[in-house]
Amino acid sequence: MTMELMIDGMERSALDCWDDILERLMGGSPIVFLDYDGTLTPIVEVPSKAVLSDSMRGTLHRLANYCPVALMSSRSLTDVRSKVGLDHLIYVGSGGYEVLGPWGHYVEDRGERFKPLLDQAEMALRYRIGDIRGALVERKRFAVAVHHRLVDPNDYPRLKTVFEDIAKKFPELESVMEKRAFELRPNVDWHKGRAVNLVIDMIGIRKNAVPMYIGDDVTDEHAFRTIGEKGVTILVTEVQRQTAAEFVLFDFQEVQELLERLIVSLAEGRSE
Ligand SMILES: [Mg+2]
Repeated sequence: MTMELMIDGMERSALDCWDDILERLMGGSPIVFLDYDGTLTPIVEVPSKAVLSDSMRGTLHRLANYCPVALMSSRSLTDVRSKVGLDHLIYVGSGGYEVLGPWGHYVEDRGERFKPLLDQAEMALRYRIGDIRGALVERKRFAVAVHHRLVDPNDYPRLKTVFEDIAKKFPELESVMEKRAFELRPNVDWHKGRAVNLVIDMIGIRKNAVPMYIGDDVTDEHAFRTIGEKGVTILVTEVQRQTAAEFVLFDFQEVQELLERLIVSLAEGRSE
């Protein structure tokens, strides 16, 4: 079991510990898992504005020439894929329910039966928070999200209360409170951690796989726990937070620096 500790970002920076991380990755076949929003992009107020920079796209493109790269998002698969726009990556959308790779398109059917409930929850949320300025309800394939970064701090407690109130009426849905959004999603034993194992199985290198997972979401914690000491787990955060991840990075720029270091090492390994 992974110990969950309050982290001290200075001591466990993935950049400071890079030599150890690299040694672990080179002990097998690295597979890189990356969350999208807030990990590869800056944090923005409206989700549609989370744009990948050309420079980060270039990094991903080059990295994928050396090892499998999987993008993990709570966005729909189509959405995240169109934002990234690279063909040779693996895409995991809808918080792990949809996977697209060279082997084809996989949809976890445990999510399907929740669609009517998600419809009802969406209606209730739209009705009850329609008058809270800045709150944005977004229906996803297997979730309903309420984005709240633009909500006035004075209105935030009311929004939170309404959300929690509605969440209680849908015990079959799990509520996840992220720093940018609240979300209701199917309460089943399927999450980003299981999607990580699925991707590793589909790539077909389970025995040697060394997954490295970088993310900033509460839902990424599932993946951190699933991977544990089998790989490298990195939380992106600007503040101290309880996490199952072993290392931290401050922001997307540090993420890019770490990926660039990995590209250099993998390129050297190939030319040897
Ligand atoms: Mg994120």
